Amino acid sequence: MNFLDLDELSEEDRLLREEVHRFAAEVIRPASIELDRMPATERIKPDSPFFKVMKEMKKLGFHKIMLPPDKGGIKMTPLQRYIVLEEIAWGSVGFATALGVDIIPFSCATLFGGKEVYEELVVPWLERDDWYGCWGVTEPQHGSDYLIFLREEKELVEKMGAGNVIAEKDGGKWVIRGQKSGWVSSAPIATHCGLHAQVKGGRTLADGLFAIVPLDLEGVEKGKPVEMLGMRDNPQGELFFNDVRIPEHYVIVAPGPFYAIFCDQLLCLTSCGMGAFAVGLARACFELALDYAKQRVQGGASLVKHKNIKLKLYEMFEKIETARYYVRKVMEYTCRRILELRTNDASPRHARAAQIYAKKIAFEVANNALQIFGAYGLSKDFIIEKFFRDSRAMLIEDGTVEVLSLDASDDVIENYNKDYYDVSFLKKFYEVV
Ligand SMILES: Cc1cc2nc3c(=O)[nH]c(=O)nc-3n(C[C@H](O)[C@H](O)[C@H](O)COP(=O)(O)OP(=O)(O)OC[C@H]3O[C@@H](n4cnc5c(N)ncnc54)[C@H](O)[C@@H]3O)c2cc1C
Repeated sequence: MNFLDLDELSEEDRLLREEVHRFAAEVIRPASIELDRMPATERIKPDSPFFKVMKEMKKLGFHKIMLPPDKGGIKMTPLQRYIVLEEIAWGSVGFATALGVDIIPFSCATLFGGKEVYEELVVPWLERDDWYGCWGVTEPQHGSDYLIFLREEKELVEKMGAGNVIAEKDGGKWVIRGQKSGWVSSAPIATHCGLHAQVKGGRTLADGLFAIVPLDLEGVEKGKPVEMLGMRDNPQGELFFNDVRIPEHYVIVAPGPFYAIFCDQLLCLTSCGMGAFAVGLARACFELALDYAKQRVQGGASLVKHKNIKLKLYEMFEKIETARYYVRKVMEYTCRRILELRTNDASPRHARAAQIYAKKIAFEVANNALQIFGAYGLSKDFIIEKFFRDSRAMLIEDGTVEVLSLDASDDVIENYNKDYYDVSFLKKFYEVV
């Protein structure tokens, strides 16, 4: 692995990239190919390659990269975080997603929760290799709703109806009832869920809370893992909550005006992650296509000698390079505002653009890479076939590119001329912000 990096990486950055890349090539990618071919129910069995890789990732400390060093995190620059995420996704976007959703509940508990939940749940998660997080947002009746409730017109948000997961206060406990969608990444194997729930009696999805729910509590049930087109190396499935009782300190973000800001800012962080994953996947597709085009001879010459293939390869290169440096820049800004300064004022339109742009180019690059392979690209004997399916899934994961674009567009129209993060969009829900 050796490509010119315009950021002129330090020796430490370069060594990190080499180490993670080796792991992605030798451990992650072979396991992800094996998992892709297994039935969903087999993938979640204790002896599945999924757990072997997750445990290895924990041994290397990848789950600690978004935590502050004084809270058990690994000291890293935003560029180093980006490098880790791009390399893991180069191996498999499914495993990159599994790592991302493992981190979400526990890093949110660290950044926004109290001392008690940190000691009780985050410390063991940092030390153990058999606790895994997932992120329960979308519901049978609320997929895109969970993205657009933030900036959409109040009247429309009210029409979205009640959430499918409701939290009700009962003395010193919260009781959770309802169901999350079948697309919750890692849900079939997760031990803890970072859960979004609407408060009982709430008018809109903005009347919600974010809690961390151990999935071994009485009343939790899991659906069967789903057979998906892409991202098959990360198990997905439903979560059911039948009067599940959690202590008050497991509620990380309580109902109130900060909940919507929290959702918006968390989506800024996940958008940077998704951007890095998409660049990693695009690069993996490009490298496969480049190698193949150098070897395959047609029309009396190797494919790289044909002008249409040359142009395709150049355009793939251009897209990946521009996406990489934009996502890196946004990640640097977003991490500084949320993880370091803790000002929670990262820019939603910039973060959404990083995710949207990188996901779009990943799909275009995967599509062109497959075209370069010709019919071989459609065969399961070539990994480009898997990568193409994964790139398709990315256009929907963490919000469809269309709905993310609409949300970003509202932020652009409202806030383009402001040099700060404007929370006035909350005024439609709350009298005082
Ligand atoms: C690989 C993968 C991993 C995922 N991981 C998770 C996870 O870890 N946790 C989790 O909670 N969810 C997860 N999801 C779910 C994902 O967030 C949703 O699938 C996504 O937000 C879209 O919701 P939906 O599928 O219900 O589609 P819908 O919201 O029903 O949308 C259907 C179509 O209508 C369009 N549309 C919908 N509403 C509007 C609107 N208001 N305006 C304009 N167009 C609209 C959409 O763009 C889309 O094309 C994952 C999905 C995938 C594919």
